[in-house]
Amino acid sequence: MTVRTVICGAGISGLALAHRLAAEGGEVVLVERAPGRRPQGYMIDFFGPGLEAVEAMGLLPAFERAAYHYEEGHLVGADGRPRATVLTKSFARGRLMSMMRPDIEAVLAEHLPAEVELHYDTALTGVTERPDGVSATLADGTVLDADLLVGADGIHSTVRRLVFGPEERYLRHLGLHTAAFTFDAPDVHAATEHAFRLTDSVDRQMGFYALRDGRVAAFTVHRSADPALPGDPRAEIRRAYAGLGWVTPRALEQCPPAEEIYYDQVAQIELPRWSSGRVVLLGDAAYAVSLIAGQGASLGIAGAYLLADRLVRVPSIEAAFADFERLWRPVVAERQRNARSLARWFLPATPADLRIRRLMLRLSRVPFVMDRLATLLTGKDVTLADVLRRAGDRPLGPVSGSVPLTPA
Ligand SMILES: Cc1cc2nc3c(=O)[nH]c(=O)nc-3n(C[C@H](O)[C@H](O)[C@H](O)COP(=O)(O)OP(=O)(O)OC[C@H]3O[C@@H](n4cnc5c(N)ncnc54)[C@H](O)[C@@H]3O)c2cc1C
Repeated sequence: MTVRTVICGAGISGLALAHRLAAEGGEVVLVERAPGRRPQGYMIDFFGPGLEAVEAMGLLPAFERAAYHYEEGHLVGADGRPRATVLTKSFARGRLMSMMRPDIEAVLAEHLPAEVELHYDTALTGVTERPDGVSATLADGTVLDADLLVGADGIHSTVRRLVFGPEERYLRHLGLHTAAFTFDAPDVHAATEHAFRLTDSVDRQMGFYALRDGRVAAFTVHRSADPALPGDPRAEIRRAYAGLGWVTPRALEQCPPAEEIYYDQVAQIELPRWSSGRVVLLGDAAYAVSLIAGQGASLGIAGAYLLADRLVRVPSIEAAFADFERLWRPVVAERQRNARSLARWFLPATPADLRIRRLMLRLSRVPFVMDRLATLLTGKDVTLADVLRRAGDRPLGPVSGSVPLTPA
């Protein structure tokens, strides 16, 4: 008999897990609340363990086709002049690609094995745990029975709330709000081409990437002690970023309506346990590291790879969940600590901190400093291959597709 998995959430983590489980012969139902692929996008720096997993899944060429390669990032003054430049390779320690979030999801969705059932416009609203399985109730009343349920439903996870308790227990607000949107403005596109650009400003900053279709992807971060989100994100963005200079007035003018904006607090998720019986959390739902870490997508995909690997190799589902957590928690906990200590440099609070950040970035071209900076920005150098080796597994390689998942 084949194991049946219901995955809640067709984001990066849920799609990657569906891909791996189906490739290993599992039966997978993926339910996604959004009516279709989510178009709201921001640029993701993609490197480290997630990139290793993508290669092992045979998806690297497809990722490469959708990727951007920005070799430099500039901190830009209100007059548009670069004040400091960083080489992107100085923090990735190896291969790095930049990808729009919807493009990552598109590649994963387009390469899902045909057997995966993917249902959009389908929200999970209830979970019933049983000793030998779990049932997921959907918004229309349908009940899906499964051997296991995976909550890959993001930082505001419904599965986590239903099974582990209210969000407030696990969410740590990092004192910032973030937003992302895309817009059409040829003048801004021309001013932001070929490199990533970030305003060199105190307590609020806007970053820009010129996209190949002529649009510009903007992201914003500003300080806000209040985790509550504004009723009108566009009005809040226009208020918070007024007077920032350079191309920012044009970006604010072109900012789309609320439904096309991604807006949230910057936060991390910390739970004492990631699983309960036949339910496990994955990706941001279990261990959001925040955009300060710049690795949430990478850790979502690598976590999916590892979870699927444990489910294939460990004889009981509960033991596989425990093994996944034993191997993966130290990696994400270190990323979370690192992101918290980096917050001061990610968004400087004083002109003096701005100057220090500029100096650090200028020094990043010195090889010894580059290494130290990589550790400061991204944490210890841990590979997915190391983690699998610690588990006693084979080195990463192409997916076999031949091992049927069998229930405990
Ligand atoms: C501005 C910004 C920049 C970032 N930059 C980087 C970066 O440079 N590098 C990097 O690696 N990471 C980055 N990240 C983090 C990264 O985007 C996230 O960590 C990653 O997308 C999390 O993926 P996920 O699949 O776990 O969750 P999500 O992307 O949140 O997906 C969860 C899915 O579950 C669905 N869902 C929710 N509730 C339900 C329900 N009840 N029923 C059914 N479906 C449901 C949602 O609609 C969604 O599709 C950044 C994040 C932000 C905000």
